[in-house]
Amino acid sequence: MANKRIVILGAGESGVGAAILATRLGFDVFVSDSGIIKAKYKMKLDEHLILFEEGVHSMEMILSADEIIKSPGIPDSSPVMQEVLRAKIPVISEIEFASRYTTAKKICITGSNGKTTTTTLIYYMMQQAGMNVGMAGNVGKSFALQVAEENFDYYVLELSSFQLEGMHQFKADIAIILNITPDHLDRYDHNLQNYVNAKMRILQNMTKNEYFIFCSDDEITIRELEHIVLAAQELPFGIDAKPLPNSGAFLDNGQLNIRFRQEVFSMPVNELSLKGKHNIYNSMAAGIAGRVLDIRKEHIRTALSSFPGVEHRLEKVLKIKDVAYINDSKATNINSTWYALECMETPVVWIAGGTDKGNDYSALTDLVKAKVHSMICLGVDNHKLIEAFGDIVPLYVEVQSMEDAVKAAYNMATSGDTVLLSPCCASFDLFNNYEDRGTQFKKYVREL
Ligand code: ADP
Repeated sequence: MANKRIVILGAGESGVGAAILATRLGFDVFVSDSGIIKAKYKMKLDEHLILFEEGVHSMEMILSADEIIKSPGIPDSSPVMQEVLRAKIPVISEIEFASRYTTAKKICITGSNGKTTTTTLIYYMMQQAGMNVGMAGNVGKSFALQVAEENFDYYVLELSSFQLEGMHQFKADIAIILNITPDHLDRYDHNLQNYVNAKMRILQNMTKNEYFIFCSDDEITIRELEHIVLAAQELPFGIDAKPLPNSGAFLDNGQLNIRFRQEVFSMPVNELSLKGKHNIYNSMAAGIAGRVLDIRKEHIRTALSSFPGVEHRLEKVLKIKDVAYINDSKATNINSTWYALECMETPVVWIAGGTDKGNDYSALTDLVKAKVHSMICLGVDNHKLIEAFGDIVPLYVEVQSMEDAVKAAYNMATSGDTVLLSPCCASFDLFNNYEDRGTQFKKYVREL
């Protein structure tokens, strides 16, 4: 019998990882990418003698697959996926594929915001506790590559809604939903429920032996849970939690408390290394996961108080002439910028804009009114931002490069202010990605 034929669409980190794992497993593998494949990935494919094409999708080759592994960046509406769906070939994500070949326990994190922060924090905590753990998903090396090359007992996986769409048999040992707020609606037919449904897939196949950690302050999550019969053990966390949960995390008198199996873990909120309300949530979720994993309390405490944070997420860059410069380039939607503005304690010069993903800016109105005195619109098309805030913010300018944005911010800021890059938009109109945007911001700030 011929080998099972696996076609992989998209040759980025996840696609190439999946191709290497599939090749190791002895499948007949073909990789197809409609764009140009990065040199480092081409080298990897060559090294493993994997057949690939770029700049084109040869449909005959693709439609001969027994199973297709699709990279999260390719939408179902793309011409190639339309044909694949018509041909009824099973489509899975790289995460689903790799999970078939590991018995490691999986701690899985999803949400609209805070995934990378919380994933990295849990990974850091587990490492501090001396556990044999890998981190994958949207961060670092792909899950499939690590399953092929490493031998971890645990994985902390950051899962986007796009990855979750291609997951069917996958089962998380610990699932975390941090929050659900509108994002990526351009990929979900501008229908919030489609996006919510994708997120909720993280719970599929769970039994009473697994744990579900979620935010009891999050309206959409709570509303969804009312319609679902859940087998997993529920561990909520919340700042507004009333009544206090028997199991889970809550705040009391400035203390973060976690109740689990009749025991309480406590630490003062002001000792958490990550600041801001959103990070209390992230720290709570990570702390509960730590308790479920039976990590010693002192390791949890040390991890939560010493975690260095993640680049491009409310990252302090420099203070120049008593003006603080903060890089929050990863704030690509309204909710993340809401939290950024919420935790600002000084007047703000706000750099915003980019590729709008169907934003409704009204949620930011009050915070912008209260905190922002100058706005720098950094996008090709700024009309929605100007419509929303032009009459509210005393001063605004439009620029088309980061260099000009930083110069304008420097001129508009006065002693005691904060210059905050928190764009609440994607970056692709003017930058390669959010990392490029944040890195350029830091470069021009350092050159001031
Ligand atoms: P994700 O991986 O889900 O995109 P990140 O951890 O990369 O999340 O953070 C993205 C942005 O969201 C950053 O601007 C960060 O400051 C903000 N953020 C982090 N955690 C939360 C949260 N729990 N709620 C809202 N915003 C958050």
